[in-house]
Amino acid sequence: MKLKFLGATGTVTGSKYLLNTGSATILIDCGLFQGYKQLRLRNWEEFPVPPDSIDAVVLTHAHLDHSGYLPLLVREGFRGKIYCSEATYDLCKILLPDSGRLLEEEANHANRHSYSRHAPALPLYTEEDALRALDYFHPIPFGKPHQVAAGLTAQLALGGHILGAAIVTLNDGKRTLTFSGDLGRLHDAIMVEPTLIEQTDYLVLESTYGNRSHDPADPAILLGQTIRDTAARGGVTVIPSFAVGRAQSLLYEIHRLKQRGEIPALLPVYLNSPMAIDTTALYQKHRKLHRLNQQECLAMCHAAKIVNSVEESIELNQRQMPMVIIAASGMATGGRVLHHLKAFAPNSRNTILFAGFQAGGTRGRAMLDGVDAIKIHGEYVPLRAQVSQIDNLSAHADANEILGWLGHFKQAPKQVFITHGEPDAADALRHRIEETLHWPCRVPEYKEQVELV
Ligand SMILES: [Zn+2]
Repeated sequence: MKLKFLGATGTVTGSKYLLNTGSATILIDCGLFQGYKQLRLRNWEEFPVPPDSIDAVVLTHAHLDHSGYLPLLVREGFRGKIYCSEATYDLCKILLPDSGRLLEEEANHANRHSYSRHAPALPLYTEEDALRALDYFHPIPFGKPHQVAAGLTAQLALGGHILGAAIVTLNDGKRTLTFSGDLGRLHDAIMVEPTLIEQTDYLVLESTYGNRSHDPADPAILLGQTIRDTAARGGVTVIPSFAVGRAQSLLYEIHRLKQRGEIPALLPVYLNSPMAIDTTALYQKHRKLHRLNQQECLAMCHAAKIVNSVEESIELNQRQMPMVIIAASGMATGGRVLHHLKAFAPNSRNTILFAGFQAGGTRGRAMLDGVDAIKIHGEYVPLRAQVSQIDNLSAHADANEILGWLGHFKQAPKQVFITHGEPDAADALRHRIEETLHWPCRVPEYKEQVELV
């Protein structure tokens, strides 16, 4: 068995692992590179093997850095099945066409304002490419091995990271290979905790927070304080948020803050992300995959006013009054939040509150690092608003939680491959696992191939 690392090495984006069993070729995750330009350019490189030579794809979860390359893979010839959980499929139906649409909009925008160095700028893929990719999805249940290629089964276990997220274990009859996917938290308010795994021969392990521990304080404290202080100054709190997972956690926390009287009950809260709205509705459908009961689910859905049209979104930018706006994307790399940043970043009364991990090379990272202007749609926008971050609302296990999860293994894996982390985080986790558990670990390089005996 050969495993090749085609992404999520030295970065948290671009998850793609190519597995060759001798009789089949499988891709585990099929994500987009995001962040630094040199990473994003990899999305445009020719795929290392002809996509029509891949028999199947297995997805851990729907986030675009794990699924967003699929439209291109299908356009370039992939014709196998894409296996994932039912909820991941439901989320991909929302995320992938939107991704195609955004890529088209960005290319059109660049052409209209001619700020692209490429003339004409082309989208990486289109909404139509994304819709076509959806035809190849084949949802499978959690907890049962399912044959995904000749002599190879895949079994999904709850990963707890977002709705439908899975830990994937492949078995070829001789050895098992487990992908942690993005590993959830132990005590998330909404998501269930990651399933405990007791044994695997090889483990591919994420390390987003491999060098950090989340603040044990309740994330709602900082969220409430920021919203309250900003509103008291007459300002707007803009929260760039992933549409899937994070937006729902924010809505639920805001509902609870209002319920406890910690923020004004009448403070307007807007959710400006059609995807986040559709996603919130999916929590009703997949009730077994999270902790909320029906009432809590409904309260979460009604915690914000929905912004339906672009006109409403523009109108919101003209209002200078206390309010909260939640909009995608979470690292301010694209989406409707950019228009809100243009409108609200120049005023020191406002707050830009990041609610998750900010990868290097993103606007979010730059804003947290203290730049005084941000480039949006080819123009520099002065940044005078306060910028802050809640990082313990994260959907990722921190180093201690990862070690805790590993502590349930009854036997050491033959090898652990540490991926999905920036270099410091991946190496810190390698060090901790070697020191405390004495398991053999390595941090693979981009396009490195290893032999699994
Ligand atoms: Zn994820």
